[in-house]
Amino acid sequence: MPIDPSLPYDDNNIFARILRGEIPSRKVYEDEYAFAFHDINPQAPVHLLVIPKGRYVSWDDFSAKASDSEIAGFVRAVGEVARQAGLSEPGYRLLANMGGHGHQEVPHLHVHIFGGRQFRAMIPPA
Ligand code: AMP
Repeated sequence: MPIDPSLPYDDNNIFARILRGEIPSRKVYEDEYAFAFHDINPQAPVHLLVIPKGRYVSWDDFSAKASDSEIAGFVRAVGEVARQAGLSEPGYRLLANMGGHGHQEVPHLHVHIFGGRQFRAMIPPA
């Protein structure tokens, strides 16, 4: 079910629990601003998730409220994770689902990194 992005941040969402180390994840990267791990249900040969360490529900929340250093740190982390995964030369796709129409399911901002094969249609037919 998509989330309601107008709700306040839920400290018990699954990615908050991953950040606190309460549930396991296959971590690939961590710095002051971001944490990255393998998606549990990969949709491509490489499917990574990058999340900010701050308490942000969505892209909307983060882009409105995060500090400049949090935004810069997070964007740099997304690029670094993709580079470290060897995706810069072949290319990759980024995706951030937001709210109901975006079909966001976890209420902590996450950017998907997809790679490892050729992608075609950006959005499948409805
Ligand atoms: P979204 O629809 O953008 O909110 O995507 C949520 C993503 O989180 C999905 O691709 C799920 O497979 C992934 N996911 C959910 N729980 C976990 C988990 N415990 N570890 C890794 N990925 C997860």
